[in-house]
Amino acid sequence: MADSSGALGAAASQTKGSHSARLFERAQRSIPGGVNSPVRAFRAVGGIPRFIQRADGPYLWDADGKRYIDYIGSWGPMILGHGHPAVLEAVLQAAREGFSFGAPTEREVELAEEILKLVPSAEQVRLVSSGTEAAMSALRLARGATGRAKIVKFEGCYHGHADALLVKAGSGLATFGHPTSAGVPAEVVQHTLVLTYNDVAQLEAAFVAHGAEIACVMIEPIAGNMNFVRASLPFMRRLRELCTQHGALLIFDEVMTGFRVALGGAQSLYEKQIPGFKPDLSVFGKVIGGGMPLAAFAGPRAVMELLAPLGPVYQAGTLSGNPVATACGLATLREIQKPGFFEALSRSTRSLTDGLLNAAREAGVPMVGDCEGGMFGFFFPKDAGSAQAGLPQNYAQVMATDGDRFNRFFHGMLERGVYLAPALYEAGFVSAAHAPADIEATIAAARAALR
Ligand SMILES: *Cc1c(COP(=O)(O)O)cnc(C)c1O
Repeated sequence: MADSSGALGAAASQTKGSHSARLFERAQRSIPGGVNSPVRAFRAVGGIPRFIQRADGPYLWDADGKRYIDYIGSWGPMILGHGHPAVLEAVLQAAREGFSFGAPTEREVELAEEILKLVPSAEQVRLVSSGTEAAMSALRLARGATGRAKIVKFEGCYHGHADALLVKAGSGLATFGHPTSAGVPAEVVQHTLVLTYNDVAQLEAAFVAHGAEIACVMIEPIAGNMNFVRASLPFMRRLRELCTQHGALLIFDEVMTGFRVALGGAQSLYEKQIPGFKPDLSVFGKVIGGGMPLAAFAGPRAVMELLAPLGPVYQAGTLSGNPVATACGLATLREIQKPGFFEALSRSTRSLTDGLLNAAREAGVPMVGDCEGGMFGFFFPKDAGSAQAGLPQNYAQVMATDGDRFNRFFHGMLERGVYLAPALYEAGFVSAAHAPADIEATIAAARAALR
């Protein structure tokens, strides 16, 4: 690993001999790269990943007993903070009643009803165990419903690691993608068209060329896997029109944004600005599990009833709708519906984002940022010109921001007890447990780190 090179040497060396460092060494012997999901390994930012011992409210403690203010929140699920009493009680109660039955339960019905109540575009929902599984199943359903093979995704959007979605753009307009992972045959992605986010002209050209063959377009409506990039209103409006016109299903991947940017997800925000707007299918995960393995895909009855056992589209799961996971998700969804919840969460997230931007301005460091509900992002533009140009609008622009500066900032914050996502292309998350004092402490750390 390139952990002790250059500017990161100091930060990395502080962890040499720590419990985290020893655990990381040991982990690398039995687990590939020492982690069970690659971004945890800190490869993007360098240094040694912190092994986490426990968490409470907005805090994490690592194996060396150091406390961090947590802005990852397990990559989104922990919207209430860690160990929320009502959620914990629901999980303990459910665990006592049994871990898994492989038979239907009332709680699954309750969770399904709760999701449908909050997501008016959906009439039925199926529960699965991960966002990957939900996106993959929604894709199969869209292909089954339309009898078409081709799918469209956007560069920089992540929809889990199903083969057909591990694709980057080919060269030139409207060419089909190349696998981004070994082990994915070219034939598997030959039907996946990869377009530039927020590029209306390219989208139109793709529909002119392939409209009658496109089963679906899958999109992160606010892309959190390229930090924080909103789909513009004109882009979303045109996307909806083109899908409708050509009989393609519009799939909103709200695994990250669902129940996070607003109670009704990103779709509720677009619906406010584009009357009558709704996606055809929605994919959820993260917050709906409250930290347990749970995800879902949802849509109109006529489409959802194409799923087995009623219809010809096969989909199944041993642990789908798991009773402990559904208890956790249900308790979480009940808490976030309490009056004022999203208003307070949005205020915290806004004060954090504004505070970071102010700290950067004071330090003379170019920074741009944005937030919605409990999700935020910030970028270090490479020059004043691109800072003036505002927020990045697509993946290429995100990746053109200053990665070295981000990495130094990340380590500066980590040293000061603030745990941000360890890669410049990841969004951040605030929970309801983050008090004004935590936000203040974070901004103070940022002032020092930016110096
Ligand atoms: C996290 C994420 C996924 C994948 O979910 P997993 O539970 O990690 O499989 C899919 N789509 C989006 C938008 C995500 O943020």
